[in-house]
Amino acid sequence: MLEVSKEERAEIYSDSRFQLFLNKFLSGELDKLNPVYDPKHGYTYPQVEAIIGGSATPEGFLNRLYEMGFLKRELYDKIIHCPACHSANVSTRYRCPYCRTFDIKKSSLIEHVSCGYIDSEERFRKEGKLVCPKCGSELTKPDVNYRKAGVWCSCNECGKSFDIPVSSHFCRECNEDFTFEDANYRDVYSYSLDETVMKEAGTRYMLVAPVREFLQNRGFHVESPGFLKGKSGASHIFDIIASSGEKAKTLVVTVKRSSSGKEVSTSSDDKAKEIIVIDIASSQTGETVSEQSIISMFAKVFDVAPSKAYLIAIPKISENGRKLADLYKIKLIEAADQNAAVQALEATISQTSDK
Ligand SMILES: [Zn+2]
Ligand SMILES: [Zn+2]
Ligand SMILES: [Zn+2]
Repeated sequence: MLEVSKEERAEIYSDSRFQLFLNKFLSGELDKLNPVYDPKHGYTYPQVEAIIGGSATPEGFLNRLYEMGFLKRELYDKIIHCPACHSANVSTRYRCPYCRTFDIKKSSLIEHVSCGYIDSEERFRKEGKLVCPKCGSELTKPDVNYRKAGVWCSCNECGKSFDIPVSSHFCRECNEDFTFEDANYRDVYSYSLDETVMKEAGTRYMLVAPVREFLQNRGFHVESPGFLKGKSGASHIFDIIASSGEKAKTLVVTVKRSSSGKEVSTSSDDKAKEIIVIDIASSQTGETVSEQSIISMFAKVFDVAPSKAYLIAIPKISENGRKLADLYKIKLIEAADQNAAVQALEATISQTSDK
């Protein structure tokens, strides 16, 4: 597992391909992503292919998310690919260990319990019945008067008998015959969303989706999460960034997560008349969001200088945080839950953007 910085995580969250993928889990469309088998190509992930197009291989996309801790994986199968043409349309051949032909006959070994005689099944077959070649009695009750005592193979080419054949593989596409040694033998996984990500993204999804819709309906261009370049040249991420055209207003909202929760702010950039940034902070313990959310937001807001910055604190912010918000001119929205937060934000934004 890779060490993943906060910025790298934020970058994944801001990747539209990941957002689409994530939404499949959050909306309940996907619980576990299983590979789909196709004899020519082997295992594929059609749902991922549909999202990422030709920008990457589904395996590469999923593996990166797994290595960064966004996805959990489980071994689903192992697959053999032809070393010559990479096809997965491969059969297994069991061969005679003496002459190597795959033209062998497999039969069962049968033991007659009462006399102890063991031989291959066909030696017992007589006019549709099983009769012991040694003592002549008929075998009628499996597991009582006779039992299977393993397998026995005989070679149709060299006539030798053996119990364990040698295996090899045959590519039905290019006719390559190859052994396990040369086979391309790969793990195939099914994937599910890591619980932490599910929780983190779930809160964000529930809060961001209605806010985004509200802002879009008001004609804003919304990015969530979004990046803004500050005076320092550094890029800052906000949970939501909303911007309108040159004449209209720009509203930017971003969601950030502190150890105690998330925060929301709004801001504006230079090209637009107004940019609003929003960060979201929610308390994990259900108590207060620490002032750290305000402090880290202020650092970004100071650099980016948006028209307005909002922090949504769920359910409320600490006393110090409230004082700092006031000092830093970050508008604070404290709400018991996502619904209340969306309502409060809508009220505030309607007010300010109607001016
Ligand atoms: Zn092949
Ligand atoms: Zn043989
Ligand atoms: Zn017998």
